[in-house]
Amino acid sequence: MSLTIFTSDRFADHLMPPGHPERIERAEVMQAVAAEFRKRGGRVEQPRAATQEDLARIHDPAYIGRVRETAGRAVALDADTYTSPDTYDVALLAAGAVMSGVDHVLAGERGTRALAMVRPPGHHAERNRAMGFCLFNNIAIGAAYARSRGLSRVAIVDYDVHHGNGTQWAFYDDPSVLFLSSHQYPFYPGTGAADETGRGAGAGFTVNFPVDAGGTDADFERLYDVAASVLERFRPELILLSAGFDAHADDPLGGMRVSTRQFARLTAKVCAAADTCCSGRVVAVTEGGYDLKALAGSLRAAIDVLDGSGVLPPAPTGDTSRAESSLAAARRHLSKYWTL
Ligand SMILES: [Zn+2]
Repeated sequence: MSLTIFTSDRFADHLMPPGHPERIERAEVMQAVAAEFRKRGGRVEQPRAATQEDLARIHDPAYIGRVRETAGRAVALDADTYTSPDTYDVALLAAGAVMSGVDHVLAGERGTRALAMVRPPGHHAERNRAMGFCLFNNIAIGAAYARSRGLSRVAIVDYDVHHGNGTQWAFYDDPSVLFLSSHQYPFYPGTGAADETGRGAGAGFTVNFPVDAGGTDADFERLYDVAASVLERFRPELILLSAGFDAHADDPLGGMRVSTRQFARLTAKVCAAADTCCSGRVVAVTEGGYDLKALAGSLRAAIDVLDGSGVLPPAPTGDTSRAESSLAAARRHLSKYWTL
């Protein structure tokens, strides 16, 4: 077994108002999936909690203080982002789980992988604001932590159906962290256009693949073949993966048509790039995924790939027109940096 899952029953203690898609049942799915993994000999460990110093690598101290003050209370931080009395402590564990994964993977042998199976998600959280169900940007905090541990190049791949605006802005002028995202566009949160490519020294190190609604398995297969080639050129020392499963065909929020089995193939492409570049080091972290059955199935598919068990499904065939138009848009703005 090469995968360790970092998760906690505490992720069920973050409560949202009735009818909210980012609901407690998602934590129950995670608990069930972790129990299955443990039952077949997999390692499941408790995450550590992020410290103020860890959060402050990404978030403004005044913002951290504002979230800390919600401890013990139910507060609306954003039109769709809420706290419950335990949310602050739970959010510290969600960010900490990514750092636990980074420590684990950096200490491990070749092919050591980690999955932070957490809620609340993180990739929409910006330096000074909660957004889109996210309080702290778990994956950005993990990437900044990896940099603080001495890594020179970290890649973040984000296959959640929504653009990871918070992650993008955290490293927008930073050439040491490559951010590569595929996402439905136009769509929430509105960012992620092909011409958002980074700024200053970070120019070219933000790679956006905006995809029209209706994207197929074959579209995503094509996009992630190209993504893998970018990763191999960047030569990261660690790859972090925002593993959101809301591009699934059954997801109530996303408008894509990705199958459960395709999430195995996308995860495998990221892992293969890591095998080439960085001794297979991958830390995945959950983001969205709001159909409970699709979430469970996609998590299992990704876990089997991260763990190196299971057989990969065959490559999909079918319409790739959305991938081709996404790549054409990306090429217009990125061709001086990457061959896409
Ligand atoms: Zn999402």
